[in-house]
Amino acid sequence: MIRNVAVFGATGSIGTSALDVIARHPGRLRASVLAAGRNVDALVALCAVHRPDHAVIADAGLLDALADALRDAGLATVPHAGMAALDALASDADACDTVVAAIVGAAGLDSTLAALRAGKRVLLANKESLVLAGALMMQAARDAGATIVPIDSEHNAIHQCLPPQGGCEGVARIILTASGGPFRGRSRASLADVTPAQAVAHPKWSMGPKISVDSATLMNKGLEVIEAHHLFGMPAERLDVLVHPQSLVHSFVEFIDGSTLAQLGLPDMRTALAVGLGHPDRLASGVSGLDLLQHGRFDFEAPDTDAFPCLALARDALVAGGTAPALLNAANEVAVSAFLQGRLRFLAIPALVEHVLAALPAADAASLDVLREADAQARGLATRAIDSGAVH
Ligand code: NDP
Repeated sequence: MIRNVAVFGATGSIGTSALDVIARHPGRLRASVLAAGRNVDALVALCAVHRPDHAVIADAGLLDALADALRDAGLATVPHAGMAALDALASDADACDTVVAAIVGAAGLDSTLAALRAGKRVLLANKESLVLAGALMMQAARDAGATIVPIDSEHNAIHQCLPPQGGCEGVARIILTASGGPFRGRSRASLADVTPAQAVAHPKWSMGPKISVDSATLMNKGLEVIEAHHLFGMPAERLDVLVHPQSLVHSFVEFIDGSTLAQLGLPDMRTALAVGLGHPDRLASGVSGLDLLQHGRFDFEAPDTDAFPCLALARDALVAGGTAPALLNAANEVAVSAFLQGRLRFLAIPALVEHVLAALPAADAASLDVLREADAQARGLATRAIDSGAVH
């Protein structure tokens, strides 16, 4: 039976890679819903190629612009606008059975949760939602019988190494690999004046701006440690990180009998997306296999937490628990956005996160409302700290 796939964040790096894989399998997969944030032109251009039933623009003020553009292009795609429309389509059984959750940031939480509560197959790229509300999301998935296939390459690798029935029985340790980002090997002092253009120039992966900056600060790996904790039920002390500059080994799972399994492949997100889109079958992704003679060498080193303190900040937030990861994530989103706009220095990103975590003690994450409130408080405090120059 053909799978109807909703691609949320369709205009982004992950979204377009997902659409590339979907288009390779017209008999098995179709893009039934495409959604973007504000970029109507890019969304309509994708609709012209993939002919979805529904198109959603998250900015509610852009409904007319989307409707006009779809009509002008002669497309029968039904236009929708606003976050509530995303949630409704994520839960609608006729609209889709599979959701690619590839919106960037905490903005992806509600639609991802709606898809999980509706028992969908969810290809989870939006790591921020899991950092913010991981325990609630995993519970929602269990309650509704939803399937989560992690799309982050590291978690997708671990998913592939674990037994098909899931669970971490017999697993001693999970080791996430990290490229080290564009500033690997540099001292903290040398990072004082790095620019957004330098920070987003990732040596191995082509990604959206937010995750590229997160990779440069190593916050991305910190968010991934928290993500792995929720996805695989591993405590923080059994989640390690190794820098692997070639980005060919995407993670390791070490078992109690001394075996270590790894998944290898070229750094191209279409492999992970094909694993999710075909699950549990394998699908061609357009990515070629690894030529080991050509690549040859694999290096590993410990992460430098002095130059890149975000990894330790994220670990501390995971251990503190409760609302701490939500506070960390919100402060980081505000910091990265300000850095990309040239309003904050690179080294002020960890400083701002630390400032917020010190000022707002972690509380019990008793409900989604508590987590949303923590998210809003952290955003408010971080924004005030930037505007007042307290952190710069
Ligand atoms: P991009 O910046 O390339 O794309 C973001 C997408 O989200 C765009 O389609 C954008 O729409 C949409 N969007 C932005 N804000 C909103 C909003 N408020 N409501 C609805 N949609 C919105 O990001 P990436 O593709 O790089 O990353 C997406 C997610 O996947 C992130 O969580 C990232 O951490 C994760 N990820 C990404 C990887 C990668 O290789 N890129 C690897 C692993 C994980 P518009 O174009 O209209 O702004």
